[in-house]
Amino acid sequence: MTAPRLRPTLAHVPRYVAGRPPAGTSDLAPYKLASNENPYPPLPGVLGAIRAAAERTNRYPDPAGRLLTERIAARLDVPVEHVVLGTGSVGLLHQMVQIAAGEGEEVVFAWRSFESYPIVTTINGSTPVPVPLRPDQTHDLDAMADAVTDRTRVVFVCTPNNPTGTAVRRDEFDRFLERVPDDVLVVVDEAYVEFVRGEEWVDGLVAYRDRPNVAVLRTFSKAYGLAGLRVGFAVAHPDVAHALRLTAVPFGVSTVAQEAAIASLDAEDALLERVERLVAERSRVEAALDDLGFGLARSQANFVWIPGPTEDLVAACDAVNLSVRAYGDDGARVTIGEPEANDRFLDVMSALGPAARR
Ligand SMILES: *Cc1c(COP(=O)(O)O)cnc(C)c1O
Repeated sequence: MTAPRLRPTLAHVPRYVAGRPPAGTSDLAPYKLASNENPYPPLPGVLGAIRAAAERTNRYPDPAGRLLTERIAARLDVPVEHVVLGTGSVGLLHQMVQIAAGEGEEVVFAWRSFESYPIVTTINGSTPVPVPLRPDQTHDLDAMADAVTDRTRVVFVCTPNNPTGTAVRRDEFDRFLERVPDDVLVVVDEAYVEFVRGEEWVDGLVAYRDRPNVAVLRTFSKAYGLAGLRVGFAVAHPDVAHALRLTAVPFGVSTVAQEAAIASLDAEDALLERVERLVAERSRVEAALDDLGFGLARSQANFVWIPGPTEDLVAACDAVNLSVRAYGDDGARVTIGEPEANDRFLDVMSALGPAARR
C-alpha cells in the first residue's frame, strides 16, 4: 500500500514545544512557569458566563461573534468592521500568512521570537526569514527592514517579544514602517500588551490607524486568563479584515469562549488589577535577580528570560517542582506566577548564581 502523497513542505515544519507541567519529583506544591499562563483561575462572574454558555453547547456559536466583536471595537475605539475574532491569536497567525504569502514568498520575523512564526510560515509553503535579535535581546528593526525583499509578504513584530520579554520602541518602529513597502503586511503581535509599562513602547493600535498595511493581534489568553478557551482577535483595515473572515474556520470561536471574553471585559477592572499584581511581581523578581548579579534585559511581559545554557537551571527547577521553558542553549523563559512560585524560582537562581549562567 502506498501512503497518500502529502505536501513536501511538512517535512520542514518545526515542532511546537508546549511548556510541560512540573516534574512531580518533590512534595512541594507544583508550579507551572512554562507557558506564560495567568496563575489566577477565572473570576466567579466569568465562570458563571462559561457555565451558562455551556448549556447551549448543542447549538453552533454566532460565526461572526457579533456581541464580542462590538464590545472589543467599543473598548478599543476602532470600527467594528476592523475587528476579527480568531481561535486564539495563533489561529490568526496562520491566517495572516495564508492571506498574504504564497508558495516561496517570504515572511520576516525576529529570532528568537514566538515559535509559531516559522511553523505557520512553513506549513503554508512560504519561506521563513528569521533575523537575529540584537545582543540586548531586542528586535533589530534595521536588519529586519534590510531583510525585506520583493518576495516579502508578511513581517511579524512581536512586542513584547516572546521569549525574551523586550518591547519594541515606538520611535524605532515608526522608522521601520517608513522603510517597509506599504504593500507588505506588518503584523504587530501584542499578546502581552497589558503587561507593558512606559510610554516609549509601541502601541500597535496607534501604528495601525493610518496605515492599511499594519494589523494588530491581541488575545484573551494571557492577561485575561482564558488560555484554555482559544479566543483572540485581530484589528486590521477592511481588506485584511475581510480576508481574515474568508479564511477563518467556521464557528471556530465557541459560544463558551465568546461569552467568557465578554464577561472578562465586564470584569476588566478586577482582571487588570491582577495584571498589576503580576507586573509588581515581575519588578520584584527582576530586582532580586539584579541583586544576585544576573544583569538581565528588562521584561515588559509576564515572564523573564535567562539567557545561556539551561540544563542546570531546568534540573534545579525540576528538583523543586517548578517547570520552566528551556530553549536549548539559548536560554530559559520563566513565567511570573504566584508570589510563592516566584520566591521558589528566586531560591533556585540564588543557589545557581550568575557565574553558572555565562
Ligand atoms: C501566547 C502568545 C500568543 C497567543 O496565543 P493564543 O492563546 O493563541 O491567543 C500569540 N503570540 C505570542 C507571541 C504569544 O506568546
